[in-house]
Amino acid sequence: MSGNISRQFGSMVFNEEVMKQRLSNTCYRAWKKCVEEGTPLSLETAHEMAAEMKNWAMDRGATHYTHWFQPMTGVTAEKHDSFITPESPSRVLMQFSGKELVRGEPDASSFPSGGLRATFEARGYTAWDPTAFAFIKDGSLCIPTIFCSYSGQALDKKTPLLRSMEELSRQAVRVLRLFGDTDVKRVVSQVGPEQEYFLIDRDVFNRREDLLLTGRTLFGAKPPKGQELEDHYFGTIKPRVAAYMQELDEELWQLGILAKTKHNEVAPAQHELAPIYNDANTACDHNQLTMEIMKKVAGRHNMVCLLHEKPFAGVNGSGKHDNWSLSTDTGMNLFRPGSTPSQNARFLLFLAAFIKGVDEYQELLRCTVANPGNDHRLGAQEAPPAIISIFLGDELTAIMDAIIQGTEYVDQSKNILSIGVDALPPIPQDTTDRNRTSPLAFTGNKFEFRMLGSSQSISGPNTALNTIMAEELSQFADELEGAEDFNAALHTLIRNTLRDHQRIIFNGNGYDEAWVEEAARRGLSNLTCTADALKTYLMPKHVQLFGKHGIFTREELAARNEIHLENYCEVAGIEARTMVDMVRRSIFPAVSAFSGDVAKAVAAKKSVLADLNCAAEEALLRRLSSLMADLTAGADALEEALAHVPAGDAYEAAHYCKHTVFARMDSLRAVADALETITSASYWPYPTYTELLFSIK
Ligand code: ADP
Ligand code: MG
Repeated sequence: MSGNISRQFGSMVFNEEVMKQRLSNTCYRAWKKCVEEGTPLSLETAHEMAAEMKNWAMDRGATHYTHWFQPMTGVTAEKHDSFITPESPSRVLMQFSGKELVRGEPDASSFPSGGLRATFEARGYTAWDPTAFAFIKDGSLCIPTIFCSYSGQALDKKTPLLRSMEELSRQAVRVLRLFGDTDVKRVVSQVGPEQEYFLIDRDVFNRREDLLLTGRTLFGAKPPKGQELEDHYFGTIKPRVAAYMQELDEELWQLGILAKTKHNEVAPAQHELAPIYNDANTACDHNQLTMEIMKKVAGRHNMVCLLHEKPFAGVNGSGKHDNWSLSTDTGMNLFRPGSTPSQNARFLLFLAAFIKGVDEYQELLRCTVANPGNDHRLGAQEAPPAIISIFLGDELTAIMDAIIQGTEYVDQSKNILSIGVDALPPIPQDTTDRNRTSPLAFTGNKFEFRMLGSSQSISGPNTALNTIMAEELSQFADELEGAEDFNAALHTLIRNTLRDHQRIIFNGNGYDEAWVEEAARRGLSNLTCTADALKTYLMPKHVQLFGKHGIFTREELAARNEIHLENYCEVAGIEARTMVDMVRRSIFPAVSAFSGDVAKAVAAKKSVLADLNCAAEEALLRRLSSLMADLTAGADALEEALAHVPAGDAYEAAHYCKHTVFARMDSLRAVADALETITSASYWPYPTYTELLFSIK
């Protein structure tokens, strides 16, 4: 593909260019209007659209179509139907109707619904999302769709995201009107997710039951060499990995995914891929596809791509940085400081809304990144702490302080700027001194939400960011729309908001223990585990927020909470059972065989010379035997814990899994890892961390 990348880019996407070429003018314009203004499409338009999609897809070798959707499992789902329609007993036609395009009815009884779908109504409905382009993958035309129940409740991750984008746009436009802007019709949240991942050799992977079943290692002694030398970060990419990355890029480009940056990450075998940002809906679709294709392409190179948040203990885990901003359909970035007082006042208002929203909905944002994998990362000195705060950088913070105090602000070139309404200071465009420890960093013209786990869908965090922002903007619009003197009201609003919510700003080192104490003094929440975070999910203020903006009903929220809590316990159960299996059927027998051989060696030596000193072997034997007893006791204790997961209350069960099941897993692991360091390598049943992390030569 290399020679003609620009021709190949998006070649598997039924994008606007293709529509312009293939659809009638009326049909194309109807689609455009639908996307831009939300007007419904007629069935006639859908028919033409479907027919052309089918022809286009068949020209490219596709024979099937599928409604492609994002159920609550966190991965994507598809159900393939062929275009074949019988015309007579001996002839078939290749057909695809508008009705089939617009709506599908997969039997949805096996997707998690959190109790939303009564069993007598097992059907779920998929409905075409005309704002996302259809594409061809593995010989099928994939149609991005939402997925909901018979009565319209969201069963997926796309529906709420779309709802939140709509609502945010509506509220942001209201605010822009107050600044005299009559051109902007839509405001769109823009997202660029940076994706981290590990690559390891498949042969080594296949010999690790834990990786196969759980995606992470449940055992493994610390390797002699880890990430201490920091020689991997941005280091030279190994040829095998480079070949993988190139093929991955090409596959993604064909799907119109703007894969842009690739480099090695901090840990050995860890890498990152960043796309160029896109509207949140497209970014979310693309990130799901990217994760899927990363895994698929790895297989072709006899490698496995690990997307788990913490595949290896003691080595950095993987996250996802969600870069988020707001842009108008006229091309303005609303988080870019402007060059005139009016532009800056607008910037400061949006900034103030964001700061207020994050402060008021800290717990909600924390919930959106709560999953079992992330419990191993957040607050573990490698990812942001579980405390939500915003990094603004020194300069913007100084401006904020000056606004709050009503004092003069002296900029770096010693210009004194008085901060009245008419003379807001020109804010430097790029003040991004990097602070990697902050969960939410302002980076010049966007916010970077850094707490996301590598495996999770970006839908939840962006739905929350959009909705929170919509809420604050709607409050601001309510207040300012009624103001007699807009400028004076604006100034007061910005000042008061910054004053009341400055506790959420923190520019220091988020990994520092002192921050945890300081945050507690400020009254910030610190929800250290998934169970604690999810306990806040149904707080009245969250129910109110989502209800008011039409994103989720209480019922939909409760269903989601239940799915997340259940998932947490299921993961704990699978991991614990895998551990017990590995201990009882592989680790214990291996160590037993090894100690048997040591014992035989002692006996053999003593049979030759009865007074031979065998103290070293004897000490080893004692240590092995004692640890074997601990190993058995640990496995017993873990099984016992699993047998007593509280039934009924889902929150209590998740809490128990965290503090009892996972805690016992940690103890069991410590024993096994100690055994690994003293058992002959030829007996140890699993590839070691060294073999795993350095498996790609
Ligand atoms: P980093 O130094 O963190 O890698 P980059 O500037 O390379 O930062 O950007 C990281 C990601 O942020 C990329 O996916 C990029 O497309 C995205 N990004 C850049 N500008 C914006 C924006 N205005 N809104 C949303 N995402 C953006
Ligand atoms: Mg980044």
